[in-house]
Amino acid sequence: MKKANKIVIVVILLILIITILLICKLITQKNNSIKKENNLAINIQTQNNATEVFSNIAKSGQMDWKIRLVNKENPLPEDFEVELENIDGTRKFDKRAIEPLKQMLKDIKKQGITNVWVQSAYRSIDYQKNLYQKSINKYLKFGISQEEAEKLTEEYINKPGTSEHNLGLAIDFNEVDEGFENTKAYSWLQENASKYGFILRYSKDKEEITGVKYEPWHWRYVGQEHAEKMKEQNLCLEEYVNSDSLI
Ligand SMILES: [Zn+2]
Repeated sequence: MKKANKIVIVVILLILIITILLICKLITQKNNSIKKENNLAINIQTQNNATEVFSNIAKSGQMDWKIRLVNKENPLPEDFEVELENIDGTRKFDKRAIEPLKQMLKDIKKQGITNVWVQSAYRSIDYQKNLYQKSINKYLKFGISQEEAEKLTEEYINKPGTSEHNLGLAIDFNEVDEGFENTKAYSWLQENASKYGFILRYSKDKEEITGVKYEPWHWRYVGQEHAEKMKEQNLCLEEYVNSDSLI
């Protein structure tokens, strides 16, 4: 074969290869744009669904982890798990809310109020079971009925899974007694806790709604935005998650 012929064949082959590559590229681009359109349609659909679900669930307070309602009617599932972080050597709190808690404890001490400490924070459902049973046994020793013992126990200790301590967003201060309301720490918390996202969970004027007796020592994290709204409108969590303030 002549040299000139060889060159012509090579050139033709090159042109063919380039043309094939260009065609392939065009096909891929078209496919991608079809895929993008499909994805967009799916995204819009998902967003619409999510908005619908959110507005439905937000009303009951189940969507936003900060205002998850835990009480007798709304127990946590037995397998409930939460990522925890240490407050100190022994006590733990929900990792997502540890910073505001630590900041609050730091700032309260900065005000010269040093006689304040976290007595109890996160408690596992198993631990709660233990605590609950111990209290029942204590009352049973006085010779009262099981039913009576449960009633007395549940005035202060929630059934396992129905305690906010199982959720990891509640703390009890100091001696866990009513005397706490006469401390400087309590006054400071009343004034400032909402700025850090904390609320007094079981106040005196809401006993009938919460179903729990007044607990000046028990504070719950709900996030700053919710805490300030609740304080401003004097709503307990049960009222708040069912109110229009949420939307
Ligand atoms: Zn408590």
